[in-house]
This record gives sequence, structure tokens and C-alpha cells, in this order.
Amino acid sequence: MGIHSGHMIDPTLDASLCPLCGRSNQCAVTAGADPANCWCMHTPVSREALDRLAAEQRDRSCLCPACAAGPANQQPVLAG
Ligand SMILES: [Zn+2]
Repeated sequence: MGIHSGHMIDPTLDASLCPLCGRSNQCAVTAGADPANCWCMHTPVSREALDRLAAEQRDRSCLCPACAAGPANQQPVLAG
């Protein structure tokens, strides 16, 4: 279960960019690949990173690997 659990990519937002830092999130979905192949499906996502997202940003675009790892790697959890 990764960030793409809802599989709701918003066309009005650039889903290829991390909503936290604005850098490329290397998301498989925006590359046209199967979301199951996205790194976020295999990497625990920091709860703190998810808490920093606005509600409307969740399940919309992927975080980048650096932000998903969280500031201190505290209690990583799987998103969604
Ligand atoms: Zn980021």
C-alpha cells in the first residue's frame, strides 16, 4: 500500500512533482508505468511526511523518495 492507494491522480496538478519539496518524485504513474511498480509501493512512507500534506494533496501526487523517508525516519508507516 503506497501513496497511490486511492489511485486518484489529479489532472489539474502536476503529479510528477513532490508536493512537499517540488522536485521530481520519480513516480511510476506519471511515467506511464504501473503504479504497482512505483518505488512508494516498496518504501515505507513517513507519517510525518504525510501529516505535512494538505488533505487535498493526499492520494493525488506522489512524494519524492527523500520526503517520504521523513526528516528523522521516525516510525515509518505505509501510506494508505
Ligand atoms: Zn519531496
